Amino acid sequence: MKILFTASECVPFCKTGGLADVVGALAPVLAEKGHDVRVMLPLYSAVPHEYVKDMEHVVDFEVELGWRKQYCGIEALKKDGVTYYFVDNKYYYGRSYIYGLGGDEHERFGFFCRACLNALTLLQFQPDIIHAHDWQSGMTPALLRIQYQHLPFYENIKTVYTIHNLQYQGIFGIPDVQDVLGIGDEYFTNDKLECYGCANFMKAGLVYGDEITTVSPSYAEEIQTAYYGERMDGLLRAKREHLSGVLNGIDIKEYNPATDPLIPAHYTADDVSGKALCKRALQEELGLEQSEDTPIVAIISRLSNQKGLDLVDRVIGEIMSEKVQLVVLGMGDAKYVNLFSWAEQHYPGRVAARFKMDGALAHRIYAGADVFLMPSQFEPCGLSQMIALRYGTLPVVRETGGLRDTVLSYNEANNAGNGFTFFNYNAHDMLYTLRRALFFYQEQKQVWQLLQSRAMNGDYSWGHSAEVYLSLYRDMLGHDAPATAAAQEAPAPVKKPRARKPKAETEEKPAAEKKTRTRKPKAETEEKPAAEKKPRTRKPKAE
Ligand code: ADP
Repeated sequence: MKILFTASECVPFCKTGGLADVVGALAPVLAEKGHDVRVMLPLYSAVPHEYVKDMEHVVDFEVELGWRKQYCGIEALKKDGVTYYFVDNKYYYGRSYIYGLGGDEHERFGFFCRACLNALTLLQFQPDIIHAHDWQSGMTPALLRIQYQHLPFYENIKTVYTIHNLQYQGIFGIPDVQDVLGIGDEYFTNDKLECYGCANFMKAGLVYGDEITTVSPSYAEEIQTAYYGERMDGLLRAKREHLSGVLNGIDIKEYNPATDPLIPAHYTADDVSGKALCKRALQEELGLEQSEDTPIVAIISRLSNQKGLDLVDRVIGEIMSEKVQLVVLGMGDAKYVNLFSWAEQHYPGRVAARFKMDGALAHRIYAGADVFLMPSQFEPCGLSQMIALRYGTLPVVRETGGLRDTVLSYNEANNAGNGFTFFNYNAHDMLYTLRRALFFYQEQKQVWQLLQSRAMNGDYSWGHSAEVYLSLYRDMLGHDAPATAAAQEAPAPVKKPRARKPKAETEEKPAAEKKTRTRKPKAETEEKPAAEKKPRTRKPKAE
C-alpha cells in the first residue's frame, strides 16, 4: 500500500508532545512491513541541522491561498525506510516557535494542508491512503473532498483522520479561513465546517475523513460523551460507525532499560539491581537526599490542567508528609511552575523540579524513580505511563482514556495488576491510591517486585497496533493490497469506489474478528464495578 502521513510534528525532527512520538514510531513500523510510507511535515527552523544538511530539494511551486501566492519547497530525507517530505516556507515556519504566537495559525496550517495535496502530483506520488493527524492536518481531508476530488489523480484516495487530542481543535473566524482557503459559504453550515459560529479544523477532519481513529479504545468511547467530547460529542456519536480507538505503542528500542545509553546503569526484569544505581545517580544529580529506601515519585509531563496537576496542588502537603521524594520534569502553565518551584523551596532535598524539555533527563528519571504519577483529567492515550512501566517505575494513574487501557490496578485478591489506579477526579482518591502504592513499596517488597517484573515484561510495542491500522486501510480500500516496493513502479490500480459495509454485516462479524477496532458495549463500561471492568487492550500478562 502507498500511505501518506500528514502531521505537524514527528520525532526526531520536531516535537512538542506525544503526536510526534506516534508519527515518528508508527511510520517506520509500517514501512518495515513492506509498505511505501511517506510523511509530510513543515520544515520548522527547530528541525536540527544534522537532518537539514542531508535533505534533498525535490521540487518547488507556488501555493495559492486566496489572493496570496506563497513559495513552497519540498525537501526530502529518507530514514528507516520512510521518505520524509518537509514543506518549506520560511515565512510560515522559519520562526522561533512551532505553534501559537503569531495569530496566523489558520494560514500556516491551511497552507500546509493545501501544499501537501498540491505536492502529490508534482512528486508523482498517488497514495492509496492519506492519514492526517490532529487539527493542524484536519483541512487535508476536507480540501481533498471539496476541491480536489473531481480531478482523476485524487479521486480514489481515501483518508483516515486521527484525533490525538480533542482539546486542541484549531478554531478560527470563518472569513479568515475562507480568505485563505477559498471555500464557499455553502460549506460553512453546521453539518460541514461551521462549528458554533466559527471554522474548526478538527471538525473538518472529522466530517470529511473517511474513517476516524483516536489513540485508545477508551478515549474513543469517552469522546462520545458530553464530559469528554469538547463539544464534538454529537458529531462523534453520529459518526460512531466510522470511529475506532487504536492504542499507541512506544519505541521499545529507544525505551529499553537493558540497553538505554542515556541511563547510568542497565537492568532487566530478571535483574533490577541496576535500577538502584540509577536511583542513586538521579538523587545525586538533582540534589536530593541520598536514601535508597525513600521512594521517588516522578512526574514527567506537559504542565497543563489536562494532566491532573490541580489534584497534586490540592494535596501536595499530604503527599510530602509521607516518606517520599518528588521529581518533576515539565514545561507549561505558570501556575504549575509556581507550585513546583514553591515545593522545591519548601522541601529542600526532597523535591526537585526542572522546567525544560530534556529527553535525556526524562530517561534518567524513568529509570531512577519508583512511582510514576499521572492523574490526568483526560488522557487520549498517554505514552509516559507506558515508558514508566517499561522501566519498572510503577504508575499511579486515573482511570481515563489510554491510562485505563494500559494500567490495571493491583488486585490483592488475585494478584493481578501492573500499577495503581483510581476512578474519580478527586485529590483524596489520588492521595489514597498513592499511599496504597507507597504501602506496597515499603511493606510488601515481594508484591512490588512482582508488579515491577510484570510491568517490565508488558508488550508496549507498535506491532499489534500497526496491524490494526493496516487492516483498517485494507478494509477501506476494499482489497487485500499488500503493496510492497514493487507496487511503487506499477501503474496506479484503478479502484472502484468502495461501498460502505452494510451495518448488519459489521454487526454480525464474530466478536474475535471485530475486537481490534470495536467499542466496548456501553452498558458494560458504565455498569460494571471498576474492579471488574475488563476490556483493557494491554492487560499485563497473568502470572
Ligand atoms: P502528551 O502528548 O499529552 O504531552 P504523552 O504522555 O502522550 O503526553 O507524551 C508525552 C511525551 O513527552 C513522553 O514521551 C514524555 O516522556 C515526553 N515529555 C513530556 N515532557 C517532557 C519534558 N519536559 N522533557 C522531556 N520529555 C518530556
